[in-house]
Parts: sequence; structure tokens; C-alpha cells
Amino acid sequence: MRNGYSGRRTLITAIGLAAALPALSADLPAPSPDDNLNAVLWDQTSVEAQANALGAYTLGRIRLDEALADKAWTAAPVEQTGNFQDFPPAIILDVDDTILNTSPYQARNITAGTSFKPDTWTQYVNAQQDKPIAGAVEFTQYAASKGVKVFYVTNRTADEEGPTVEEMKRFGFPMGDNVDTFLSAKEQPDWGSAKGTRRAFIAKNYRILLMFGDNFGDFTDEYKGTVEERQKVFEANKAHFGHDWIAIANPTYGSFESAPYKGDYKLPPEMQRQLKQDALKPWDGK
Ligand SMILES: [Mg+2]
Repeated sequence: MRNGYSGRRTLITAIGLAAALPALSADLPAPSPDDNLNAVLWDQTSVEAQANALGAYTLGRIRLDEALADKAWTAAPVEQTGNFQDFPPAIILDVDDTILNTSPYQARNITAGTSFKPDTWTQYVNAQQDKPIAGAVEFTQYAASKGVKVFYVTNRTADEEGPTVEEMKRFGFPMGDNVDTFLSAKEQPDWGSAKGTRRAFIAKNYRILLMFGDNFGDFTDEYKGTVEERQKVFEANKAHFGHDWIAIANPTYGSFESAPYKGDYKLPPEMQRQLKQDALKPWDGK
């Protein structure tokens, strides 16, 4: 609430901060603008991001119990065919920014003035600097305690599997015991970055109760279209969200970001920015 007291306090705090921050002096350059600054700041420092993820994983427990009790329940209507009712239960989670927070990599790109590159990404994965997303370890442990197999379907590559699995074990994620539950991209010839073939592989032997992801592609293979096309696919699948598909918020990257420029990463950054700005629907100021 804005009142006289908090106004004075804000002023005093601002004076204190200015004294404590010599970097703001005129002889040092201002940091370069970066389109991702607020998103990464939110992702890395905000209690709101943690609160959001905790809410999602708390909902996950409720839905898991409901799904276990209902043998007709499946979260993968496209991939789950035939008589799946008596298959053992499983859940599928994406890894990056669904269970592991990769914000140190995104933050590094801001402070170093760089952008995503496969080689720096692999270096980052090898450095094992991720943190678990709030609620993810506890939720997956809860699922495992109920006899649910916890699968991780990730677009990290087979080369990146070793350091990632090490990190996940250290955090306490259930790793499948004698079943390979970490399904990386291209581990089999038909496992591309679209995840449907991996969902289908799991669905052959398990009833899929829930899916978790931060990107539309963690739920459907129809995630790569324009903003309007994605909206249509979303509308058609709306009933899944909050039910058997649970999304973790990630404003820092994803197929939402590339949709306005149709995933054409070769376009100059200024052009990408222009197309993103063109996708906004601004108030006309009247
Ligand atoms: Mg992800």
C-alpha cells in the first residue's frame, strides 16, 4: 500500500542503496539492454516463481491420487492406445525448467552478452549448476512412494545424460531403479525433439497418469506453429491443463518466444524483436 510512511521509507531506502552502489556512478557504463533480463530475474530471484511451482506440484499430488483411483485415466490420449487400464502407472516430467532450474545459464548469457549455443550449453550441463524447481523433488518422491514409475523425457542429449543423472541423484529425484527412466533426445533413431515417440514408447507398458512441462511441446507435438495455431491447439486441449497436464511457468525461453518469428533463429535479433513486438496487442492509449 502506498502511504506517507511507506513513501518516506522508500526514499530513505533509495538513499541508502545509492550510497551502497558505487556501480551506479556516471563513469561506469550502464549494463547493456537484454530482452531476457526481467524474465530471468523473475525465474532466478523471485518468490513468485517458487510459489507458482509449489502450487503446480501440490496440485500434482491431488491429481496423482485421483488418477491412481481411476483406471480409465490417461494423460496421453494420442499415444495411449489399446487396453492400458491394468498397466502399471507412470508419470512423465520434462527436465529443463520443469524439475531443474537452468537460470544460471540464462543469467550468464545476459551478463556475458551471449546467447544460446549448443557448445556452451553442454559446458553448462557438465558444470552441474542447476537447482531443483520448488516442489519437484518432494512430488516425484511422493509419486515413487505410491508405486508410480517416474519418467524424465528431456531434450538433453545422450552425451549430457551422465552429468544430468548425477545431479538429479544428488538432489534425490527417483531414478527408476532397474528401469531406464531417463529418455534423452536421439537415444533411439526416432526420438526427435518432438516428444510424442517417447511418450508412445512409455505408453506401451505403462498407464501415463500425468505429464509435467514448461513448454507446450512437453504435452503435444503440435507446438511449433504460429501464435494463432498454438492458440487453437491449446483451446482443443484446454481440459487437460490443471487436470492431467501440469505446466510450470517459464518466461525465459521456449516455443512461445520463437512463435512470432516462426522459429527462424537465423533472423537477425532486431528482426526477431520486431516480429515479437508486432505480436503484441497494445492498448491504443485512448
Ligand atoms: Mg523444459
